[in-house]
Amino acid sequence: MATNEGTMLALRKTAPHPGVELVRTPLPPGPGRSEVIIEVAAAGICGSDLHIDEWTPSYAFLTPCLPVTLGHEFAGRISAVGQGVEGWRIGDAVTVKPSAPCGTCAACLDSRPDDCTNRRAVGLHQDGAFAPYVTCPTSQLLALPPGIDPTLGALAEPLSISAAAIRNGEVRRGQRVVVFGPGTIGQGCALLARRAGAEVTVIGLNDAARFATLRSMGFDRLIDLADDPAALKSTNPYDVAIEAAGAPAAVNLAISALRLRGTMVAVGIHAKDVPMDLTQLTRRQLRLVGSARGTHDIWLETIAALGETPDLFAKMVTHRLPLTQALEGFAAGHRREASKVLLLPGASA
Ligand SMILES: [Zn+2]
Ligand SMILES: [Zn+2]
Repeated sequence: MATNEGTMLALRKTAPHPGVELVRTPLPPGPGRSEVIIEVAAAGICGSDLHIDEWTPSYAFLTPCLPVTLGHEFAGRISAVGQGVEGWRIGDAVTVKPSAPCGTCAACLDSRPDDCTNRRAVGLHQDGAFAPYVTCPTSQLLALPPGIDPTLGALAEPLSISAAAIRNGEVRRGQRVVVFGPGTIGQGCALLARRAGAEVTVIGLNDAARFATLRSMGFDRLIDLADDPAALKSTNPYDVAIEAAGAPAAVNLAISALRLRGTMVAVGIHAKDVPMDLTQLTRRQLRLVGSARGTHDIWLETIAALGETPDLFAKMVTHRLPLTQALEGFAAGHRREASKVLLLPGASA
């Protein structure tokens, strides 16, 4: 919340080494042309925020952007609109596609913004939502379904990643799908694969807490490899395997779990290069597809799904903490005892 001195609390990555810091920063200036300021209702702690905290090599690309306020999964209400803003009003409940196209590259000029490779993301390249206020271009706004708890809008970003994995894996009704990794992305994949009519199994490792979340959402095909390392081998082959663990061992397990001509979707982020049994991929004619950010139509689909069964998706949220307890939220994420941790900037002093 703002203080008299015109500053606000923000969780920032301040330097290119491990750690994040809760510091006071100036309130954002008034919104520029075609921009709005959003009063943040909730911002989720993402696996990438944990990697950025640890400062694993896959995030070294952020060094030129530091210091920066993190928080790219968020929702809230518009609190100020800049000049030239049309169709958005103060008080509107919105979520934000954090990754914005550059507007000037060949893909952007050809009206294919989803193909832009020169993107900048709110909460990574520029100040994000682990703060009471965040500035965003209107091109990135999406309205939340009417009546939905605005804090749940913070789930739209991770769910859009899961939805992209389901789309890229071409998951269909009647298929058998195995998801490696019961974190937020894996949980989203499980929910959306089931919604598409697939039978879903989820694989974890020492994942009692996150399996409890999945059980509460009605999943009972859950295999914890710590309890029984061979349990996966005794199940029938799967049509689609989704690697959402970012754990090197999961890659070859996913490959070996597939039927002939099955599809593996790689959506986990790995801290370094991963050895892979490519001969199995060749001999069994598997398909390997990488999947990351959702396109605009996937976002629209995701928000519609969120609006249909908000109470089901709400079970993904295990922690709601004021911003003052952000570091505790990060610690819970690192310990993998949490499913989604939401920080509520408005709830802090
Ligand atoms: Zn994220
Ligand atoms: Zn571009």
